[in-house]
Amino acid sequence: MVTELLKIPPATLAKLAKLGILHRADLLLHLPLRYEDETLLEPISELQVGNHAQIEGLITHNEVLSRPRRSLVCRLQDNSGELYLRFLNFYPSQQKQLAVGNRIRASGEVRMGYYGQEMVHPKFSIVAEDTPLLQRLTPVYPTTAGLSQTTLQKLIANALEVLPLKDSLPEELLKKYKLDGFAESIRLLHNPPAEVDADSLESRNHPTWQRIKFDELLAQQLSMRLHHQQRDQHIAPVLAAQHRLTTQLLSALPFALTRAQQKVTTEISRDLSRAHPMQRLLLGDVGSGKTVVAALAALQALENGYQVALMAPTEILAEQHYQKLGDWLAPLGISPVWLSGSLKKKAKTLAAERIASGETLLAIGTHSLFQEQVSFHRLGLCIVDEQHKFGVQQRLQLRSKGDEPHQLMMSATPIPRTLAMSYYADLDVSVIDELPPGRSPVQTRLVSDARRTEVFGRVRAACLEGQQAYWVCPLIDESEVLQLQTANETYEALCTAFPEIRVGLVHGKLDNAEKAQVMGEFKAGIVQLLVATTVIEVGVDVPKASLMVIDHAERMGLAQLHQLRGRVGRGAAQSQCILLYQQPLSQLARARLKIIYENTDGFLIAQQDLQLRGPGELLGARQSGVAMLRFADISADEDLLVQARQAAEELLHTMPEIARGHLLRWMANKHDYLHV
Ligand code: ADP
Ligand code: MG
Repeated sequence: MVTELLKIPPATLAKLAKLGILHRADLLLHLPLRYEDETLLEPISELQVGNHAQIEGLITHNEVLSRPRRSLVCRLQDNSGELYLRFLNFYPSQQKQLAVGNRIRASGEVRMGYYGQEMVHPKFSIVAEDTPLLQRLTPVYPTTAGLSQTTLQKLIANALEVLPLKDSLPEELLKKYKLDGFAESIRLLHNPPAEVDADSLESRNHPTWQRIKFDELLAQQLSMRLHHQQRDQHIAPVLAAQHRLTTQLLSALPFALTRAQQKVTTEISRDLSRAHPMQRLLLGDVGSGKTVVAALAALQALENGYQVALMAPTEILAEQHYQKLGDWLAPLGISPVWLSGSLKKKAKTLAAERIASGETLLAIGTHSLFQEQVSFHRLGLCIVDEQHKFGVQQRLQLRSKGDEPHQLMMSATPIPRTLAMSYYADLDVSVIDELPPGRSPVQTRLVSDARRTEVFGRVRAACLEGQQAYWVCPLIDESEVLQLQTANETYEALCTAFPEIRVGLVHGKLDNAEKAQVMGEFKAGIVQLLVATTVIEVGVDVPKASLMVIDHAERMGLAQLHQLRGRVGRGAAQSQCILLYQQPLSQLARARLKIIYENTDGFLIAQQDLQLRGPGELLGARQSGVAMLRFADISADEDLLVQARQAAEELLHTMPEIARGHLLRWMANKHDYLHV
């Protein structure tokens, strides 16, 4: 503990804990936010308002004013001019130090005050004439209320002095990755010589930062790889490929798997036949055909007499899986059971019974699948579709339904490679990197709301030609009620405008049967134009639909726009997506629309989204490997991340003790990294 060395009052310890500093060694990695330059004195006449400066001179005036509020005002004079020092809170001792005639060295931001230039609450001390200036920049640390810079500076300086700053990494690794030593790096960052460019330190571009960022990324990678290794010691059911049900499905499908689908299917099949729980993330752009891959994985588990749970985030999507898998698997003699929150109590109980008895091998549903009442007889595999829509907790709950079931997570939110590496370093990742053949890319049009009538005409013409279309209603921040209202209004407006067209409406507030009916009618072509809220965002697959209008597209995020647009372009017909936007556009909205207009590849879109928003927002503010990074920035430090990942592998193989030592330095007191 910090107290081992210094007598620190408990109140200060509590403040330090707030900053994540629980051990002495944590002080070393509490790095400055910025620096103040107290290595120079500036003549008062040359000060510029807004700048931070250090000055020295004699106090020529000292007065306590009572209006407009009680304050201490002093005048400080040097050879070039004079300036006011103003204090709104002050102790009598300070007032005494600032007595007329005293020589004071003060630093602070120069402002324009009522009487002229002033510094408010400057840092100051009494000095003798010709007191030498500091040789080094003064660090300013992140702190918390009630913990002064001076206290932090002292504690950290002490830690630097007394702790052994042993390098956690071996010489050859430092050479290989061209890294500076740990001790010299943190010394420089805490205590830089005056000639170092403070800006490059503050922006973390200075070469010294490389070592710190590398260390941090390395710790993150090590931690996640260790989780991965630990998982590999758990025992899971061996679900070896029997090629019985899977072969039957493959020969019954109206299409052949793409090369990418075959590759990922092989990867999954191999994992399932191992005695350790699979934790694989299947990434594939919208429409790349993940469902059939999931079905094949399910069949491999079923062939072995184990149960499978397939969970989707929305009822519409779960229902669609239920129907599609039902169709595919009926000829194989398998009928899934359906479980969702909106089922009547009796039906729910019945479904739960069939799952618990093992009578049903395949359960498909929403998050109801992991509710407490549901217990599985012999769960071998959990499949989570659109996994990014679930919280970590929900995924863990489903897994806890079985005795270490295998897990397959699927996501159509394409994640840039770097992010996937960092965020999912404890998972194995499979990527479907091609779309099924015969698709023509969706044409995207940006249309101002002023031309709404033209868009109506376009929709009408398309439907009369026999095409099917979606009309996606605007997203309304924070208000489901308003969103619903808008959907209803749009529906009525479109019904009135197109009396000759059959229009349907689907939104989150419909009950399951109603939703299923509308979706069924749309799928069957009975409904030609489907007015929908963003409930159709993920997964919905109606290949015949070829036109989509997204109303108020400027309100939507890139991932959402990409997902929505992915609902069309699933069949052979040329598809179009019209993004209706309302002027004036914010800069961010303009940037987003430009990206979605220019790109169709989800990975490229995600890459640009990352640059636009930063990783925190892209992944949500969850506890994650990314959230743990204090210094490195995975979009800017991609090269370092790649190196850290490689180094983590090497260390774990050849020098596990060193790996642990390094982790200890970085993680001893931190929360553990993400475990999905
Ligand atoms: P996603 O990856 O977005 O979940 P889906 O699994 O819904 O994609 O598949 C999109 C559509 O492509 C579905 O209609 C599906 O039947 C079809 N599909 C999947 N694989 C192939 C393939 N290899 N060839 C042709 N069509 C395919
Ligand atoms: Mg899908």
